Amino acid sequence: MSTTHGTTDPGLPRRFPLAFLPTPVERLSKLSKYLGGPDLWIKRDDQTGLGMGGNKTRKLEFLVADALARGADTLITAGAAQSNHCRQTAAAAARAGLHCELVLGGEPGSPPTGNLLLDRLFGAHVHWTGMERRGERMEEIARKLEAAGQKPYVIPYGGSNAVGAAAYAVAMTECMGQLNLRGVKATHIVVASSSGGTQAGLCLGAKISRYTGKITGVSIDKGERGPEPFEREMAMIAKASADWLRLDVQCAESDFHVDYRYLGAGYGVLGDLEREAILLAARQEGILLDPVYTGRAFGALLEMIRNRELGSGDVVVFWHTGGTPALFAYAGDLLPSPY
Ligand SMILES: *Cc1c(COP(=O)(O)O)cnc(C)c1O
Repeated sequence: MSTTHGTTDPGLPRRFPLAFLPTPVERLSKLSKYLGGPDLWIKRDDQTGLGMGGNKTRKLEFLVADALARGADTLITAGAAQSNHCRQTAAAAARAGLHCELVLGGEPGSPPTGNLLLDRLFGAHVHWTGMERRGERMEEIARKLEAAGQKPYVIPYGGSNAVGAAAYAVAMTECMGQLNLRGVKATHIVVASSSGGTQAGLCLGAKISRYTGKITGVSIDKGERGPEPFEREMAMIAKASADWLRLDVQCAESDFHVDYRYLGAGYGVLGDLEREAILLAARQEGILLDPVYTGRAFGALLEMIRNRELGSGDVVVFWHTGGTPALFAYAGDLLPSPY
């Protein structure tokens, strides 16, 4: 990792190339004008390239390299039926010549659509676990595979551990470099936050690149989180990631700003906030947001503009984290019927 001030350059740990990097940074001039609010920019991590892209592809570059270094032959991970993380893991496994076992919450739907269709196209094997969508059964499945002679590598829910989050420390330095080149000084970054690895990495990257603006994580599914406060969990991930990268930077719990006002009717439930955001981005800029994460986070950003929490003096970067294949599973919620 190169840094603005050249103080910490431990060299990058091994990374298995999967993504198209750097992803573009664009100015949303039309939408900024339409809203009459801040100067809006977008970081296009929906365009990381692998298997329809998204933020997990960056994390998987580091996770897959680690799996290969450990001699694994199988990736196991978990998520909801429409998990973007699982779809990108399935694609990464195909690229790396590894088997992929996905532990998905819910029941087999027929026919599979959206991310689930893609999981199958990438050749992943799916285990259905009903109400458990955060990988509660991953270790058990890993042990069974080991007993059968396989060498599984368990990727936690969302790829949010020290290794995965490291990718977002790098991503933040990438983005700051792009903005600097264009003379843009961001005052705010807004990003969807769920398992926390993305925001944890961004916080580390912010320290490395001396970004002094705010990073706001829009909470997507706070209601189902564990006992630790989310901010503390992210500080722990950031600490582990800094150690893994051998970086001398720290993120405290107080460095994490999370907005819990936009949880709506729960994880994966598309409401007016998300629908309006998706239609606005599509119709003003030809940009697709997703129904679960970025639709909610961008909807939150629109609300902050309406409430005047963000004004015309602000320069806001919306970090697009992907997820668009899930749109196809939400057709009925997105458009009034009959279509
Ligand atoms: C996983 C995901 C997120 C959240 O990233 P975390 O690192 O889990 O917080 C945001 N947007 C999309 C589209 C995702 O798939």
